[in-house]
Amino acid sequence: MSAPRVWKLWIGARAVPAASGKVYAAINPADGKPSAMVAEAGEADADAAVRAAARAAVGPWARMSPRERGRVLLRLSGLVRENAHELAMLETRSAGKPLADARDEIGLAADVLEYYGGAANKFFGETVPVSASGVCFTLREPVGVCALIVPWNFPLVIATWKLGPALACGNTVVLKPSPETPLTALRLAELAAEAGLPEGVLNVLPGPGPGCGSALVEHPLVRKISFTGSTKTGTWIAKAAADGVKRVSLELGGKSPNIVFDDADLGVCVEKSVWSVFANAGQDCCARSRAIVHRKIYDRFVADFAARARKIVVGHPEKRGVQMGPLISQRQRGRVEDYVASGRAEGAELVCGGKRPAGLPAGGFYLSPAVFAGADANARIWREEIFGPVVAIVPFKDEEEAVALANDSPYGLSGSLWTRDVGRVLRVGRALQTGVLSVNSSSSVHLEAPFGGYKQSGVGRELGMKALELYTETKSVFVSGV
Ligand code: NAD
Repeated sequence: MSAPRVWKLWIGARAVPAASGKVYAAINPADGKPSAMVAEAGEADADAAVRAAARAAVGPWARMSPRERGRVLLRLSGLVRENAHELAMLETRSAGKPLADARDEIGLAADVLEYYGGAANKFFGETVPVSASGVCFTLREPVGVCALIVPWNFPLVIATWKLGPALACGNTVVLKPSPETPLTALRLAELAAEAGLPEGVLNVLPGPGPGCGSALVEHPLVRKISFTGSTKTGTWIAKAAADGVKRVSLELGGKSPNIVFDDADLGVCVEKSVWSVFANAGQDCCARSRAIVHRKIYDRFVADFAARARKIVVGHPEKRGVQMGPLISQRQRGRVEDYVASGRAEGAELVCGGKRPAGLPAGGFYLSPAVFAGADANARIWREEIFGPVVAIVPFKDEEEAVALANDSPYGLSGSLWTRDVGRVLRVGRALQTGVLSVNSSSSVHLEAPFGGYKQSGVGRELGMKALELYTETKSVFVSGV
């Protein structure tokens, strides 16, 4: 068997070893074995990458027209599509997601780059009718060096949510993927160079949060931080960024409600609801992990939901037909198992799942989807983000109680509402404190629409044209007519 490839950092226009010479093993969650060796970026590398990006911010990239910048993104989008299989395999072997899901995600990443390639010359300022004699107009200008810090659950897709608008607006970036899943970001940097992105515009640093990530956040030449990850890390980043008055946008945790009224189409609702929490093995910030179901249909919903969950095919993510792969790491599975134990200890009924399935590679981090019924409002499984395949289902009696249950959370990222009553859609929809709401659907992301959270789920909106605001400064210009 050949030794795994050693992946280096990407700084300037080339792959370089870490200044410390450190290398670590990226683990394949399917079997617990190393899938690749990766250079581990540290503080010195963060400094080198930020300086490369700062030089590039005043280089050829700054002089390119928005249309030319857009064309680079369109070429990159095309290269991502051409290399989709390779990228999907890299994602599957680092993140453990079923190969078919990884392929869909690579397609979505290409779509996002295409969207922002087209948007580059369609985002502009305005003329302002001021009182003085003359003309006032606004310019949208790049912020400068942006640090883009992303998690391991949707590695390449979330990177493109940030890269697309940042590059379309003429910024230069340092992208820090999660140490578990750095490979697609590193491969993207190679493809970006092939697409004609000038030297230093995109730098990629695989490395740990403390050290590499914090050095980026604190670097004086970084002007903007875009972060996706846990609320705990996001809170630290917001505080650290305040020191340099850096621009910050945050996409954080969630504990999203799935509200089902008794007039819902139960067949469709159950099928979609199951995937709204168990897709990506529940490691999804938008996972509808709190099902809130009208008491008239509660027993049937619980029975149908559990029956469907039991049929989910858990297995090796490269095997055809597998619907749910392993969790990202041994540690993450341990955390989720603790939650399953706490759910039982706190009085909820474990209807099914929450166990290590038999017959799968012993070193892999597999867990069957867990369905709890009747969780207490103060139970940890009801209040805390688990980030694993666990759902809790509780009954409600009327609209008011459904809304109160849904909103009783520090988070407010996504949510679903199942009913055929249009008036109720509008009443309940308005009352829910959530950045994204889908009605009779479990979708969370449409790349053309703004995405982000209320409350502790984040600050700012990614995707769509809204995201371009995050990566630009507004300059107000007045030209005297006198
Ligand atoms: P995490 O906060 O542990 O890490 C996210 C990223 O931040 C990683 O790259 C990590 O290395 C880096 N990091 C950690 N400490 C840092 C520090 N001190 N300075 C700079 N960077 C640091 O989160 P995770 O476990 O990778 O991801 C899971 C979390 O992400 C969940 O809470 C999930 O809800 C959230 N998430 C949110 C969204 C969204 O769009 N709202 C999307 C995906 C994931």
